[in-house]
Amino acid sequence: MLLASVAVPVPLGQAFTYRVLPEHANQCRRGLRVVCELGRRKVIGVVLQVADREPEVPVEKLKPLGRLVESEPALPEELLDFLIELSRYYLAPIGEVLRLALPAVERTEGHQESLLGTKARLVGKVLKQVTRVEPCPSGVKTPKGQAVEILASLALGPALMRDLEQQFKNARAVVTRLQAQGFVSITSTTELKNAFFDRPATPDTPPALTTAQREAVDALTSALESSTRSAFLLHGVTASGKTEVYLHAVKRCVELGRGAIVLVPEIALTPQLVGRFRARLGDAIAVVHSALGDAERHQMWKSLRLGQVRVAVGARSALFAPVDNLGLICVDEEHDSSFKQEEGVRYQARDMALWRAHRVGGVCVLGSATPSLTSEALVDRGILTKLVLPTRARQAAVLPTIEIVDLRRNKEGPTGDRLLTLPLVRALEQVVEAREQAILFLNRRGFSPALLCGSCGEIARCPDCSISLTVHRTRRPRVVCHTCDYHAPVPTRCPSCKSGELEEEGAGTERIEAALIQLFPTAKVGRLDRDVAAGAKSEAILERMRRREIDLLVGTQMVTKGHDLPDVTLVGVLDADAALSMPDYRAAERAFQLLVQVAGRAGRGDKPGRVVVQTRQPESPIIRCALRHDVQAFLEHETAQRRELEYPPYSRLALVRFEGLDENLVASEATRIARLTKLGLGGSVQLSGPAPAPIARIRSRFRYRFLLKSAERQRLRETLLKIQRTEVDRRVRVIIDVDPMNML
Ligand code: ADP
Ligand code: ZN
Ligand code: ZN
Repeated sequence: MLLASVAVPVPLGQAFTYRVLPEHANQCRRGLRVVCELGRRKVIGVVLQVADREPEVPVEKLKPLGRLVESEPALPEELLDFLIELSRYYLAPIGEVLRLALPAVERTEGHQESLLGTKARLVGKVLKQVTRVEPCPSGVKTPKGQAVEILASLALGPALMRDLEQQFKNARAVVTRLQAQGFVSITSTTELKNAFFDRPATPDTPPALTTAQREAVDALTSALESSTRSAFLLHGVTASGKTEVYLHAVKRCVELGRGAIVLVPEIALTPQLVGRFRARLGDAIAVVHSALGDAERHQMWKSLRLGQVRVAVGARSALFAPVDNLGLICVDEEHDSSFKQEEGVRYQARDMALWRAHRVGGVCVLGSATPSLTSEALVDRGILTKLVLPTRARQAAVLPTIEIVDLRRNKEGPTGDRLLTLPLVRALEQVVEAREQAILFLNRRGFSPALLCGSCGEIARCPDCSISLTVHRTRRPRVVCHTCDYHAPVPTRCPSCKSGELEEEGAGTERIEAALIQLFPTAKVGRLDRDVAAGAKSEAILERMRRREIDLLVGTQMVTKGHDLPDVTLVGVLDADAALSMPDYRAAERAFQLLVQVAGRAGRGDKPGRVVVQTRQPESPIIRCALRHDVQAFLEHETAQRRELEYPPYSRLALVRFEGLDENLVASEATRIARLTKLGLGGSVQLSGPAPAPIARIRSRFRYRFLLKSAERQRLRETLLKIQRTEVDRRVRVIIDVDPMNML
């Protein structure tokens, strides 16, 4: 009997078996979307396997497979196999994993007619009319006046009518005349509205590669040319020209007739970066981004699936792009924690990129100025080949000098803010006088991170989370929970003792911004954090920085990444200790990466850069290594620590989380499962916990967890499978996180 196993988009672990009707027997194959019954609902599923075999249950119990949605598989074979492996590795429901790779429109329930209907409606919303003007080689008359200027501007390539209208008076009339005379052609088309493709791509001339860049490019292209399965770690200091290396490799890959994926951290995916790719590769790229609407996402997905476009650039979910004949995956800033998805399917896109590239016999390159310990360990094991770019690409750009300000000895400066110390204020003064720019980094948004009662010492907390509330002052004053977004007016009396002596303790980005405005009335002060700029809007603020409409920029994590701002000569890290004190075995690694990356923002142009790092632990080895830009020394120090404590990459971890509204129940289920697990534990797996999570309650749910550690992946996996099969009270949610990154 012909049976199909089908994954449906529900969070259930297994695939479902259906009977294939005789009339579908010929067409039914892997990767096809099909309509199938699930309970009383009709859903769209994806065929994982078709086999002629004996069913395990009585035939009457098997439902027949419904209509086949299309004749060509929605997912290519290679991608489907990869997703199945990924779901096994993370013990994630296959239906959920498929959701990562199929855009929402393709998952819509119902019949094909309505499916197409939905598509048309969605696409209609984002289509816009554009008029392009293209130069034609022949023209009989001699153009005059403004026509000459317009033609000259078209010599570089086609332009959009609305851009010409902005540049030239009467552009439309002149262009229409030019068309009649045969100098240009005007075409109107509907295009998808997309911030990344708003302007036409202007081709650029690649710079002459440095020797180190050339060697890296050669290594990658010869692997591509000889179709040798291989993986590389591209370790290049900040601004050493890593992106330039990816551009060359991707270009070669496409010339060889294969496709490529470029993964960048969420925050680094900006129109500026996409512009660099378009300038080199033209518009044959798809951009995959979490802020895309359903229709845009679908459009990108389809153009890749149909092979019209061969390169996908995007944040972590671009890993699942249906690129045909995949040959290359680049992961930029591979150490970045945004490659780990922290909800739903908890996958690590960097690790999986290595895997997908390996499966297709392709090339994978992981790039960073501060490689993760994971990648360094893969170099040691011979799995990754290391390529090094030791200096900045531009001749003049040298690495900045780093100075330490000891926060224990330097009390607050002129504004009374503890984090604006005198040495830092002096450095800022010099920047303002020299008309240069500075970036101040503080990983706390809001005005003040705590509202403290001066009478009883109570701190204002979120009613639903075990988190203290942050005071925000810009726009309307309020207290906000940064975990669940609860907000309320700033209380005027302490909720426990009714005293009116409430103090706003400590500083966030808003407070620093306010203090800078006061301190430097002639300078233009800007702020970049999630409150002023969500997603693509951060680019607008950086653009103002680039245009010199901002001199001093204070911000969170958003200021630390990938931006090329040549006039920034000073970077201040206001509080380096915040990162160092995270309750996490990776705290040191993350803090070091953060320091080096943020320091990398200084002195990228012709002027030398200077970095001021404020800390209460100036003797910390992490800070000492960052001070000398000594990545190797840091890696050695941290490797020794991890080896000694048997933490990754010298072991494997899995975190088993328990969440629920009833604290006693959550605690007792966590304890029970932990005890059961311990009973069956093989020698090489260790269990620690259970214990409440560092953030013990989020959105009213209490959180417990235990940690499993083993040097043997297989043993760990067996233990997790057992846990997954164990019955748990339905009021408690169990979440398995393989290779966890976030320990909170
Ligand atoms: P990274 O990705 O390592 O941060 P980028 O590729 O963004 O570095 O390069 C940093 C800057 O140096 C960019 O402005 C880039 O255009 C420039 N650049 C890169 N390679 C070269 C080169 N070989 N010659 C001159 N400039 C270069
Ligand atoms: Zn009080
Ligand atoms: Zn909250």
